[in-house]
Amino acid sequence: MIPTDAIARLGTESAFSVLARAAELQRQGKDIINLGIGQPDFPTPEHLVEAGIKALRDGHHGYTPAKGILPLREAVCADIANQRGVEVSPEAITIMPGGKPTMFFSILMFGAPGTEIIYPDPGFPIYRSMIEYSGATPVPMTLHEDRDFGFSADEVLGQINDRTRLIIVNSPGNPTGGVTPKAEVEKLIAGLAAWPDVAVMSDEIYSRMLYGGRQHTSFLAYPEIRDRLIVLDGWSKTYAMTGWRLGYAVWPDKLIDLAERFCVNAHSCVNAASQYAGIAALEGPQDAVNMMMEAFDARRVAIVGMLNDLPGFRCADAAGAFYAFPNIAGTGSDAQSLQTRLLEEAGVATVAGTSFGVNGDGFIRFSYANSLENIEMAMGRIRAVLG
Ligand code: PLP
Repeated sequence: MIPTDAIARLGTESAFSVLARAAELQRQGKDIINLGIGQPDFPTPEHLVEAGIKALRDGHHGYTPAKGILPLREAVCADIANQRGVEVSPEAITIMPGGKPTMFFSILMFGAPGTEIIYPDPGFPIYRSMIEYSGATPVPMTLHEDRDFGFSADEVLGQINDRTRLIIVNSPGNPTGGVTPKAEVEKLIAGLAAWPDVAVMSDEIYSRMLYGGRQHTSFLAYPEIRDRLIVLDGWSKTYAMTGWRLGYAVWPDKLIDLAERFCVNAHSCVNAASQYAGIAALEGPQDAVNMMMEAFDARRVAIVGMLNDLPGFRCADAAGAFYAFPNIAGTGSDAQSLQTRLLEEAGVATVAGTSFGVNGDGFIRFSYANSLENIEMAMGRIRAVLG
């Protein structure tokens, strides 16, 4: 057997390894509090489960169009109009099995040896993994702690050259919970006028998860880049549907047919029952989403406060998603050692910042997708271990 060199370049997502180790420790009888994995701790709202069951009972067992069923794509467009104030045609949408395939397809469309792709660092690890797989050169876009973990548009524009094919942005961001200020987004978009061949993939999976009255800045709101913009969003986080594998992408006219072809090659279509549940999510009551957001906000305020009280920790205000990303340089420990110590000694699963890129060194990610009670208990245990 001789697998390709490219496949050996694939990276991974450490949160899944942490989850596996936490599960192993739990099997050994250890009490583990999981602040490692990025998935809501709430069940999928009941009416969505019912919609999925009804779809199966109604006989939706077969393939659907590769781009997804039209009523769902229409519901996505209505939701985009409602949330982002932008008109998008259902023709521009592909329903995807989660958020990840959109980044996978986009990176494969633009990444090849000799090209460069700019991606957020610290950022979602799959960006870099896929860029490396494609053979393109990964160019890290530094997210700055003192800029609320946003990018500097001047820095990003300075990184673009004739080989640059794609820029990936993600706000609110994983792992930092940071939100890039609108002014910086607009500066980047203005600067991109000089680089008409550079595409943008905006990962907006946390677009509904902003706190303290902050508004989401969607790249879709800027018509000047619509002809080269891909937007990634989905149901996993907003509707607590990570296991349903349901996401969507908005493609520019020039890419939509290629995207559809990718879908046919990769997965044929997303499972039909999930798609019907997706319609119920977008068109039905949003009470459950509001309830989850209120709970996340209370936990966010609590965890940021408690992290700032830990010796050697300094935690920026996390404005979005459900992550806090404290600077732990003051503990004297590196991120990986601290992650191991917190798991093995305190029974608290977290993810080292280095799992999200070189700029994550000196940071550790806490997901607050866990109860307030567990978060408080975890902080108490960490304090005890740190002494
Ligand atoms: N994009 C970001 C920034 C994420 O944090 C995640 C999941 O953690 C995804 C995309 C992938 O979402 P999904 O589980 O729907 O594939």
